[in-house]
Amino acid sequence: MDNYVEHALTKTKIVATVGPACDSYEGLQRLVTAGVDLFRLNFAHAQHDVLSRVVADVRRIAEELDRPVAFLADLSGPKIRLGELPEDGLEVGKDQRYTFVRQRTADSPPEHLDSTYPGLVDDLDVDDRVLLADGTVVMRVVETDADSATCIVEQPGLLRSRQGINLPNVKLSLPSLTDKDLEDLAWALENEIGFIGLSFVRDPEDIRDLRRRIDASGATHRPSIVAKIEKPEAVERLDDILAETDVVMVARGDLGVEVDIARVPAIQKRIIRKCNELRIPVITATQMLDSMQHSELPTRAEASDVANAVLDGSDAVMLSGETAIGKHPNRTVAMMSRIIHETEPLVVSRKELPLGFDRQKNTATEMTRSVTLGAIHAAERLGARLLAVTTRSGTTAAAVSELRSPIPVLALTDDPRTAQRLCVCWGVRPVVTDACTGSPHEIHDFIVRWGKAHGSVEAGDLIVIVATTDWSRPGKNVMLVEEVPNGTTT
Ligand code: PGA
Ligand code: MN
Repeated sequence: MDNYVEHALTKTKIVATVGPACDSYEGLQRLVTAGVDLFRLNFAHAQHDVLSRVVADVRRIAEELDRPVAFLADLSGPKIRLGELPEDGLEVGKDQRYTFVRQRTADSPPEHLDSTYPGLVDDLDVDDRVLLADGTVVMRVVETDADSATCIVEQPGLLRSRQGINLPNVKLSLPSLTDKDLEDLAWALENEIGFIGLSFVRDPEDIRDLRRRIDASGATHRPSIVAKIEKPEAVERLDDILAETDVVMVARGDLGVEVDIARVPAIQKRIIRKCNELRIPVITATQMLDSMQHSELPTRAEASDVANAVLDGSDAVMLSGETAIGKHPNRTVAMMSRIIHETEPLVVSRKELPLGFDRQKNTATEMTRSVTLGAIHAAERLGARLLAVTTRSGTTAAAVSELRSPIPVLALTDDPRTAQRLCVCWGVRPVVTDACTGSPHEIHDFIVRWGKAHGSVEAGDLIVIVATTDWSRPGKNVMLVEEVPNGTTT
């Protein structure tokens, strides 16, 4: 449990992708213990029945560990993927010819490839480039007919089943939500998944369309939408997309194929900065500790990448293949957690920023802002061990998060959906409890009990609490500083 206690006090959230390397009950339990805050369910690779079991398992684990863990249902969107290939993959050599067909059959020759989008053969023209395996394999279309497009391999490499296909500059006739996405969305709503990811967002209408469908579904539960920025069009229309979405993912995998890879670091920093300004939670994703899929240690560059994403201002950092199909899923999460832990002391607090700092997306009242800002100043001056805030909608917690304080923050909420949303918010550890509706002193007693049980406070430590004298009214008007008493409270 040591690892877990330490993690409880790190600030940058960890997203891990579920896959065969971790999807047993024990596997998931180890990952939660090592520090995962949010599991990504990747519909490109998993079946609903497996995911339903994963969701039930993680919910049980979260309950047992008394720690909210959220899910991201990642819809494939207009992402085209390769069909099934031999289990060991398919090695394609330079100048070899491969033919895309609408659908392979049992007696298709091995040089016939198909994809999740039968219309691909209609959209491809001679000279178009087809990028595979994250852009490491390049083919060029040399010949087309009514039902096929034949390509020649320009850059050889290994292909695997269901890998993404990127077609920079090819205008696709695919909608932003495919029939499969709509089925996956229905599953996600039925299973009350907290975050819905949309891949290959091209413009803000894609987000509005998804939101309309969620609203029209009649589901009482309203998930947050995660816009995955991985197309050049999305980078161009970033401001408009940010105006519509709840959360952003810097999806460097496809982004690094769709735009010049040399631009990706600068784009990452620009997206994160804008998200921070607007207080939109932002996830940095893909290849963060990629070599740990096979190796017990990351490269120096990867360790630096995680650290730099933290310093850029990411609310969360994500693992993909590392946890889904890697050899060392637990080690990778533990490594990520340790890099975060070592880097966070360097994160610059924003509590001195002028009040004009853009806060369009945060609706906290001026009273709440003033009290939380005062509480952070007090907590830091006094060297408090914990700052606890009560929050119903999550707004107060988000107002604390944006100030990037080094003090560990607990967000007490009586709404489990708020706790889920905060799983992707930097620096606030959600705790679901009715105690937040009580008096500041009742809240203090709860935190002392919770803090001792989780090893986060000891007798003599100071804790600072932001609360309200009237839970039924918006806004927080109380700041309380208390010492943790000796002995056990019950
Ligand atoms: P994916 O999205 O893993 O679903 O492709 C992330 C990315 O492209 O980086
Ligand atoms: Mn992607």
